[in-house]
Amino acid sequence: MKTRVAVRNLRLCTKDCLCLYVCPTGASDTENSIIDTNKCIGCGKCADACPSKAISLVPLTYPPQQKKDETLVKLANLLASNKAKEENLAKALMLNSTDNNSAKLFKAINISTRLVNEDLLREAGYMLPQSKNAHQFLADLLESDYPNLPKDVIKKLLDLIPTND
Ligand code: SF4
Ligand code: SF4
Repeated sequence: MKTRVAVRNLRLCTKDCLCLYVCPTGASDTENSIIDTNKCIGCGKCADACPSKAISLVPLTYPPQQKKDETLVKLANLLASNKAKEENLAKALMLNSTDNNSAKLFKAINISTRLVNEDLLREAGYMLPQSKNAHQFLADLLESDYPNLPKDVIKKLLDLIPTND
C-alpha cells in the first residue's frame, strides 16, 4: 500500500528533468512542475536522482501527536506571546521609519521574529493542522464573537482535516 508521495520544492528546482527521466509512472511533470499524487507510487527514485534536493517524500498519514509536557507548553506559549509583541513592535518601527535602511532592518527583525514564533508554536503542538490543538483552536474560533471571521471556511476546514490525536 502506498504510504508516501513525492512533492517538489519549486524554489530549488532547476528543471533539469532528471526526476522525469527516472520516474517509473510518469507522475513527475516538469512542464507544469506538478507531481501527480494519483500516479506517484512513492518509490523515491526522483528524490534520489534530484541533484538540487528539490524533492521530498511526505507521508500520507502523519504520526500521532505526542503528548507535550505541560510546563513546556506553558513556556512556549509565554515566549510566543512575547515574540508576537516584538513582531508588532518591529512592524510599527518599520512602518514609521524615515529612512530606507532602518525600514529594511526592522522588516528583517519582523520576519525573523515571526519565524522564531512559528517554531515556538510548533513546539507547543499547534502547527500541524491534524493536531488536536489546531482542531480545538478552530472550534473555539467558530464559537467566538470575533468580527469578520470566515466561519464557513473554518467549518469546512474542521470537516475536511482529519485529526490523528
Ligand atoms: S530532478 Fe530536481 S531539479 Fe531536476 S527537474 Fe526534477 S525536481 Fe527539478
Ligand atoms: S516517488 Fe517515484 S513514482 Fe513518485 S514521482 Fe518520484 S519517481 Fe515518480
